[in-house]
Amino acid sequence: MIAAGALFAVSHSGGKDSQAQMIRLRSIVPPDQLVVVHAPLGRVEWPGTLAHIRATIGDTPLILAPASTDLLAMVRRRGSWPTPAIRQCTSDLKRGPIERELRRYLKANPRFGGRIVSCMGLRADESPNRAKRPALKFSERNSKAGRQWWEWLPIHHWSEPRVFAEIAAAGERPHWVYAKGMSRCSCSFCIMATRKDLRRAARLRPRLAAEYIALEEEIDHTLSPTRVPLREIIA
Ligand code: SF4
Repeated sequence: MIAAGALFAVSHSGGKDSQAQMIRLRSIVPPDQLVVVHAPLGRVEWPGTLAHIRATIGDTPLILAPASTDLLAMVRRRGSWPTPAIRQCTSDLKRGPIERELRRYLKANPRFGGRIVSCMGLRADESPNRAKRPALKFSERNSKAGRQWWEWLPIHHWSEPRVFAEIAAAGERPHWVYAKGMSRCSCSFCIMATRKDLRRAARLRPRLAAEYIALEEEIDHTLSPTRVPLREIIA
C-alpha cells in the first residue's frame, strides 16, 4: 500500500500509543501519504491534548473529526453509561466521526486512488479483546464506492515499556498526564479506568469529577462497571 501510493491515516487520541505509532509510521511512510485524525472529546478530554498532538506530528496534516454530541450529553440522553463490552462512546464519538472525515478526505484527494490504510495504536497487551484483533484487516464495511480500506495496528505487538522508550528515543515527551500518574489518556474519566486512575483524575480535575458524580446520581447508574459510585471510589 505504501508503494501503491495509499493514504495512511493515523488515529491520534493524544495518548502514548498514538504517539508511538506516529513515530513508527513517520519512519516508514512518505510524508505526503500521511494524515493524522483526531476526534476531539470536548471538556471530558484532558486539557492540552490538541496542543500535544500538534507539537508531536511535525508538518503532517491534522484532520479534526468532532461528533455531533459529547459524552455527558450522550449518557444523559440514554440514561446509562456505555460498558466496556458495548462502547457506544468509542463508536459514536470516535470511530464514526473519524471514518466520516477520512471518507471526505479521500474523496477530496483523488491522488490516493481511493486506497487507505487506517492506523490505530491499539496493543495486544492492553486487554484479551485487543490481543485477539488481527494486526491487519481488510474492511469490507468501508471498502465501498471505489475505496480500498485496510485497518492496521502498527504497534500491536509492542509492550508498554517499548512505547515509552520509542517516544524518548525520538526526543519527544508523552502527554503530561502520564507524569501525573495516569496510566491512560483520552477521556479524563473513562468507563474502563482503574480505581487508581479515577482517583488521580478526580484530584487533577475536581470540578469535572463533580459533574460526573452529579450525572451518576441523576441517572442512578455508575460510570465504573464495578458499579461502585464515583463518589465512593474517590472518597
Ligand atoms: S476514553 Fe473511555 S469513556 Fe472515553 S470514549 Fe474511550 S472508552 Fe469511552
